[in-house]
Formats: sequence, structure tokens, C-alpha cells
Amino acid sequence: MRRPNWVPEGTDLDKPNAARVYDYYLGGSHNFEVDREMARQAIALWPELPQIMRSNRAFLRRAVQFAAEQGITRFLDIGSGIPTFGTVHEIARAIRPEAEVVYVDRDPVAVAHSRLLLADDEDCSVVQADVRDIDDLLGRPEVTALLAAGEPVAVLLVAVMHFVSDSEDPWKLLAVLREALPPGSALILSHASLEGRPDQAEDHQKLYRMTPTPLTMRTREQITAMFAGFELVEPGVVYLPQWRPDQPEAVGRHPERMTGMAGVGFRP
Ligand code: SAM
Repeated sequence: MRRPNWVPEGTDLDKPNAARVYDYYLGGSHNFEVDREMARQAIALWPELPQIMRSNRAFLRRAVQFAAEQGITRFLDIGSGIPTFGTVHEIARAIRPEAEVVYVDRDPVAVAHSRLLLADDEDCSVVQADVRDIDDLLGRPEVTALLAAGEPVAVLLVAVMHFVSDSEDPWKLLAVLREALPPGSALILSHASLEGRPDQAEDHQKLYRMTPTPLTMRTREQITAMFAGFELVEPGVVYLPQWRPDQPEAVGRHPERMTGMAGVGFRP
């Protein structure tokens, strides 16, 4: 396959890739046939998937608005993906025009595309790093600079930690991250849950084993444990549409069908 100019050299275009599959679900154009094929298989098994992804993205928007309304102007978006719709800096700057964002992703396509988009933005930077090597991530100059002022930072781990397996200990990674954050910092996290549609969880996890980023769905208890050392704001860890909806009707009759769970906590 010919490599389009926004795709970095060395990218494997013959294997589906989670960032590009997600871009397809959201209606973006940074994906290939191999990604669309995987997305179509996943949608056949789980027709609500595109809606789940949009619900996740809507949580991200509400949570970033909430953090900005609390006065936060610094954002660290880990596993930021391909910037398709409503990026963190756009959402935050509508409330805090001075907002600064460091985007981090392990995927070279997501990083290359984010760099193109943000080339002229002095207050945004893009880092290629892996949350599983948290010391390396926290040591990157862009990240150190964001944390150095000692002002609160909102860290986003939105739809990312389910790509970290139990043996890689996501809870430990979060504890290391928490210790690096100034007081008043926020954790904005969403995660695929085992409890929303337990009947479909295994098939879905099987599909993601085809990508370099297998999926580990978790229970509410396991997801809540990621907020250890943070004070969860109301309503706690809930299904995506239930987290501070814009209008009560937006929750719908079956929020559990959106399967993902989400929460926001602050470091005292
Ligand atoms: N956070 C965005 C959102 O919610 O709209 C994108 C979520 S997308 C489902 C997951 C992203 O996490 C992908 O871009 C993927 O490359 C990235 N990712 C997966 N594992 C990662 C890791 N270990 N470290 C950093 N990024 C990772």
C-alpha cells in the first residue's frame, strides 16, 4: 500500500491499529482499509460501538470543561489519539484562553498527525511516549515543564488504561503519576467496563488481540481503585453518560450500554 504523507515511515499499514480504528468510529478520515475492516467486524458484534466512542468523547469534553471551570489551565492528555473532533486545547480555551496542553501517545500515526495540527501552537506540544514507562513519560522535557510551575494539572487518561494489562499494573503506574502531580491536580479517566455488557465483553477483547494494543476490560471496583489518593467528585465512577450530563435526558434509559465507566478526582 502507498503511504500517505501524514503517515510516518515505518508504520505497519497491514495491521489494524487502535488509534486509527477509533478515528474511524468517530467519523474521521485517518484510517485505512485494514482498520475499517476491523471496525466493521467490531460493529457487527457490537452495533453500539460508534455511539460508545462518541459518548466517551462527550465525557472528555464535559470533564475538560469542568476542570477548566475549576481554574485548571494545564492539561496532560495521555493516550490523546488522532485529534479528530473537539481537541482538549479547543475545549479548555473556550473557558481558559491561556490553556496549555501536552499531548502524549505511543502511536506514531497519532503523534505525527497531532504534530502537523499543532505545529503553529506555542502552548501545545506533542510527545511520543508510553504510559507503561511512566518514569520516561514524566521525565520528558515538555511534561517536566508543564509540572514544574507547581500549578494544578489535569491529567487525562481517557479510554487508555484498558490498553494496559493487569501484569503491567496500571494501579502502580497511576500511583507514580499521582506523586508527580502538584496538589489540586485532577485525574480525568474513562475505562472499558466488564459490567455494562458482560455478554459481549469476551468477543470484544478477542478482536483487540488482533491489534498491537490488546484490551483489558475491568470491573467498577478495579476502575475506582485507579483513583486511589484522589478525591472523586460527584457522581463518582459511573457509566459514561451519567457523569455530569449536560441535560438529565442525555443519560438515556440504558447508560450501561455505553459500557465505559468514567470519573474525575482531585489530588488533595
Ligand atoms: N483519549 C482519546 C479519546 O478518548 O478520545 C483517544 C482514545 S483511543 C481509544 C486510545 C489511545 O491510547 C490511542 O491513541 C492509543 O494509541 C493510545 N494508547 C494505547 N496504549 C497506550 C500506552 N501504553 N501509552 C500511551 N498511549 C497509549
